[in-house]
Amino acid sequence: MTTTPDNRFDRQTRFAPFGTAGQAKLEQASVFLLGAGALGGVIAQSLVRSGVGRLVFADRDSVDWTNLPRQVLFEDRHAAASTPKAWAALEALERIGGPTRLEAHATHVDADNLVELSAGCDVLLDGSDNLETRYLLNDLAVKSDRPWVYAGVIGGGGLVMPIRPNVGPCLRCLFPEPPPPGTLETCDTSGVLMPAVGSVASLAAGMALRLLVDPAGTPLRLMEIDAWHGELRTLSIPRHPECPACGKRTFPFLEAPLSERTLTLCGRNTVQVRGQGVEVDLDAMARRLAQAASRVERLGPLLRAELDGHRVTLFRDGRALIEGTEDRGTALAIYDRFLA
Ligand SMILES: [Zn+2]
Repeated sequence: MTTTPDNRFDRQTRFAPFGTAGQAKLEQASVFLLGAGALGGVIAQSLVRSGVGRLVFADRDSVDWTNLPRQVLFEDRHAAASTPKAWAALEALERIGGPTRLEAHATHVDADNLVELSAGCDVLLDGSDNLETRYLLNDLAVKSDRPWVYAGVIGGGGLVMPIRPNVGPCLRCLFPEPPPPGTLETCDTSGVLMPAVGSVASLAAGMALRLLVDPAGTPLRLMEIDAWHGELRTLSIPRHPECPACGKRTFPFLEAPLSERTLTLCGRNTVQVRGQGVEVDLDAMARRLAQAASRVERLGPLLRAELDGHRVTLFRDGRALIEGTEDRGTALAIYDRFLA
């Protein structure tokens, strides 16, 4: 065990707005990060290198070869061994050293375990790859009055918004309802570049530091960054008085337990995932999945595809059968990544 020399954080404490007072606050802070892949990897590395006191993170996936061009904590050997991302990330972050206490969870995060996993954390961070999870984080943040940072990346750019519930707008002030299934592009269908991940995640990590050391000074705006066209925009979003979360204080994403979204079909090695009550355009979904799935078939009222090695059947009402697993978390991971 090496001890950290006193000058480890010299350069960041010389930055006056942060200073030694900021450093002291940061080393007392606990942060929860959902996802340790692309955005999550850069965010985790930024916070650990900065010396945050405690970092709790969770990821349900394993490393695969397609992750390596942009997921900075992983290496060839992790992809070859399909190492759970949480474990591979823990190993990489431990090697950085410094004062941060690390806590890794290789698990699917949902309404059943998010409250417990994030207990005692001052700020919640979004390193996820799907909107379902972001609405869940927003519900928890608003309900428990904790700041969080929304971040999303796709193609050559993405969005970041630091959120202080009841002070500025929340995610549902911006997007009151999730879009209909299949209408949103994802990294699995539209691709993504490392510089987009790096710029979006670095901005998100910067906003996390600001929320931890100077919450009142944090710009509560939507930031759009495009690392391909070289464009930056900030947008002031008003708080919405009728916002379902911070206005009406309803938290459906947090209060719908996993057991209500899924049903394990006994003896069939299949999990059924319920839809979101919105009709799915199966033709549009088939076109969107063409890149990500190895086989896509439209068969009358249903769509079949092979996703992540699982045979998946999707119906117009959004219901899906995920074959080859009895694990609800695995089935939801596939649903949220490809079909939500
Ligand atoms: Zn709101």
